[in-house]
Amino acid sequence: MTEAALANLKNLYRIFTVPEAPDSTLGRVDQAISQDVATFLQKHIVALERSLEDIEKDFSACSVPEDPTFVSDYTEFLKNKLVAQSVHTAAPGFVGHMTSALPYFMLPLSRIMTALNQNLVKVETSKAFTPLERQVLAMMHNLIYRESEDFYRTWIHDSRHALGAFCSGGTIANTTALWAARNQLFKPQGGFRGIAEEGLFKAYQYLQCQGLAVLVSRRAHYSLKKATDVLGLGRDNLILVDTDDDNRIDMEKLKTAYLGLVKNNIRPLALVGIAGTTETGHVDPLEAMADFAAEIGCHFHVDAAWGGPTLFSTTHRALLSGIERADSVTVDAHKQLYVPMGAGMVLFKDPKTLSAIEHHANYILRLGSKDLGSHTLEGSRPGMAMLVHAGLSIIGRKGYELLIDLGIERARQFAELINAHPNFELITRPELNILTYRFNPEWLQSRLPRLVPEQQLRVNQLLDQIVLEVQKRQREAGKTFVSRTRLRASKYAQDEQITVFRSVLANPLSDEKILSAVLEEQCAIVRETEVQRLLDQIRILLKSTENSL
Ligand SMILES: *Cc1c(COP(=O)(O)O)cnc(C)c1O
Repeated sequence: MTEAALANLKNLYRIFTVPEAPDSTLGRVDQAISQDVATFLQKHIVALERSLEDIEKDFSACSVPEDPTFVSDYTEFLKNKLVAQSVHTAAPGFVGHMTSALPYFMLPLSRIMTALNQNLVKVETSKAFTPLERQVLAMMHNLIYRESEDFYRTWIHDSRHALGAFCSGGTIANTTALWAARNQLFKPQGGFRGIAEEGLFKAYQYLQCQGLAVLVSRRAHYSLKKATDVLGLGRDNLILVDTDDDNRIDMEKLKTAYLGLVKNNIRPLALVGIAGTTETGHVDPLEAMADFAAEIGCHFHVDAAWGGPTLFSTTHRALLSGIERADSVTVDAHKQLYVPMGAGMVLFKDPKTLSAIEHHANYILRLGSKDLGSHTLEGSRPGMAMLVHAGLSIIGRKGYELLIDLGIERARQFAELINAHPNFELITRPELNILTYRFNPEWLQSRLPRLVPEQQLRVNQLLDQIVLEVQKRQREAGKTFVSRTRLRASKYAQDEQITVFRSVLANPLSDEKILSAVLEEQCAIVRETEVQRLLDQIRILLKSTENSL
């Protein structure tokens, strides 16, 4: 076998040109996936009961295999060990994360993209892909900023400027936005040659400040922490401002936080508004934030990684009003544009902003060239823009509108189901298509607010344990899935966090029947002995409270 595989490999011509016989495992898997992805996933993701620790044993060999193997033998391993033990994110009952189903055409189109293997860092390895990516950026820019036709005609393919940067996702998009803002604030001036050349320490000295800060609500995505770290600002200088009862940044607290910075001679680099928080899907008051950013003269960034595509919806677009005043906006295509993972964008209102991070090299990215790599953080990049272009063209504005409207409608339906159900308590109302809730039976819901704080705390801790246990067991059973998080709920003590289920309604196939099934499965898990034991502890606690009254 090994000998034969080696002989096969020695003829290198074969592995770079001739495919294996179509009846090989690879051929069959490939055919099955191409014909019907949903059935393939349903049929082959099977090993749900194994723990991750167990699965790790299948992946513990630590040296590179000495001998080559046949592609089909490898595919056999892949099918049994990797595919079988992966997560069925496209299942309609998987309503816990932002990663869900893909339109069928993304798969064959991805193959074309892979076959072409274009590198978007420079024109020499991408040609038409470069203007295509710039077109995608212009379309998204237009969705947000709605500038004139003239504006887009001027800037779309202008070699010295860019309407945005395409990247692998929201994390890099947010980092790029703050990077550009930082370099623009510390641009070359007077005798100072700019932060890009002289570094942060000299920049602080030159502007005579003690540091730079980024202001955002407590619901910020953790990528902003990474960004402040990477950019040298320090995570301490990501100022997390408290939210109001609707999970939006509290403008009064924002102003107080700002004054605190001024007092310590720390400059606000940027104010970040969130359009669709990762945990609860809420939208910050973007108009008020734009006003405030203008007042204090700092960069206004909107993290619309999740919620950006809401702009496609005539009905819901107004939820994001004020976004068009942002200096930069992050949008993830691999979330609500339904593109495979690895596609994010940051758009800049002013096409000159990205010049602040421009970089040139001699063999590529030459001054005046149209190489996209001169203003992206990443170097070599795949042609993912092609898939965004495909989505925008095939699904179209109206198609995305349908998807967005449906998701928001479903989230409202789910919220009603939860409210009507005797065992559950809605924690955050959906504004977009994300909501949180928890297990909290009716008999307890009515009494919980009347308990003294310590007892309320104790009961909430037990409920936390129940939610955690239910979520874990539900995930392990693999039929349906919601995620969980911890957050402060406005109806309970303000400095206390509770554990909640989090549901994201982005798969159009997750209908009301499936959402009911999610709740029913959770109820069934609660009836299991170990969970009942926790519930008994709550009963005992309540009883002792009543006796003491
Ligand atoms: C998902 C998300 C991000 C991060 O995006 P990645 O693509 O995971 O890097 C940032 N901000 C928000 C609001 C998000 O929802």
